[in-house]
Amino acid sequence: SRPRRISVLGATGSIGQNTLDLIGRDRESYEVVALTGGRNIAQLAKDASDLRAEIAVTAHEDALPALREALAGSGVEAAAGEAALTEAASRPADWVMSAIVGAAGLAPGLAALEQGATLALANKESMVCAGPLVMATAERHGGQVLPVDSEHSAVFQALIGEDISAVERVIITASGGAFRDWPVERLAEATPEEAATHPNWAMGQRITIDSASLFNKALELIETREFFGLDPARIEAVIHPESMIHALVGFCDGGLMAHVGPPDMRHAIGFALHHPERRALPVERLDLTQIGQFTFRAPDETRWPALRLAREVMEVRGLAGAVFNAAKEVALDAFIAREISFPRMAGVVEETLDRISARGGHIAVEISLDNVREADQLARQEARLIIEQV
Ligand code: NDP
Ligand code: MG
Repeated sequence: SRPRRISVLGATGSIGQNTLDLIGRDRESYEVVALTGGRNIAQLAKDASDLRAEIAVTAHEDALPALREALAGSGVEAAAGEAALTEAASRPADWVMSAIVGAAGLAPGLAALEQGATLALANKESMVCAGPLVMATAERHGGQVLPVDSEHSAVFQALIGEDISAVERVIITASGGAFRDWPVERLAEATPEEAATHPNWAMGQRITIDSASLFNKALELIETREFFGLDPARIEAVIHPESMIHALVGFCDGGLMAHVGPPDMRHAIGFALHHPERRALPVERLDLTQIGQFTFRAPDETRWPALRLAREVMEVRGLAGAVFNAAKEVALDAFIAREISFPRMAGVVEETLDRISARGGHIAVEISLDNVREADQLARQEARLIIEQV
């Protein structure tokens, strides 16, 4: 059979590099169309040359000369900027990995679906900001969206051969992140460096800090709601410090199907890459007697208000997810820049949601790429004002 044409958006990141690792092990099976990155030009150019990609794109226009220079003589086309990202994503491909971080991943992911590709979705922000639009775009173009987030891949796998109407509940797990055992009073002093260390998973900086605040889990609750079309009351998050059980699906007969595996994203990426087949993957095999025990705790909403905010967003839907995500991105930037404290991030997000919904009406509407962008911009401005007013 002919090689599968694949593109990787966000190729220089943690998910992107794990994806290229799997592809690099079986080069003849794939033809690489587009690789995209941001500031890491050396990595982007190296991977694009090694994998003989058609085109390499950086998100930043000012980085184009450096990318051109790094690719000189390689035969790989170079491009830069937002429009170039979307153009690269719309080049015909069978399978596209969406692994850009943040709301910037939405438009390129939609472009991939519009050209009929299967979209492997790591960029959870796409589902949070515009879940109904992503799913409708896939349906309209006969494309499929496969979850890459480990919890959602776990749920997807537990649902194979099952009827969604027999699902009573879905439980996604959270490690609790860097501060799960800190006294709540100490959180005000937490630094970005402390927040960016994860007990179990090696991930990008932003998602690691979001794991400590549980904003990552908040995004994932919303992602679960949008991906599987479940009533929010059926979706739960539980603290599971070992990070071995990724999710559980509870059925109407009382049975719970748990997905267990080592904290290695190559499982979920590989599952999406080979779907509908299941193939061998280079992940560790768990020794249960070595692990000894799996433990669980209820999430404490005083420590992690992000979960309560996610419940509000799941009720309102419409543009609430876009506002929530944008405010979260701005608050995270401000925390990384040491402008606000760790606990203040949730306050900024909550006030942004309150202010924008207080203006009435325009949150609970049907969404399009344009109004999602508008809500995103508005929320970013509002969140900045809230940060600067103190
Ligand atoms: P990283 O920060 O490691 O990588 C992000 C990628 O996006 C890089 O290629 C980066 O380029 C690129 N990028 C950054 N900003 C922009 C922008 N404005 N426009 C276009 N491209 C940009 O993130 P992760 O790999 O950790 O995460 C990627 C996505 O996958 C996120 O949505 C995350 O939530 C999700 N995810 C990640 C998991 C993980 O284990 N890491 C697990 C589950 C989901 P460069 O680095 O060159 O600047
Ligand atoms: Mg996850």
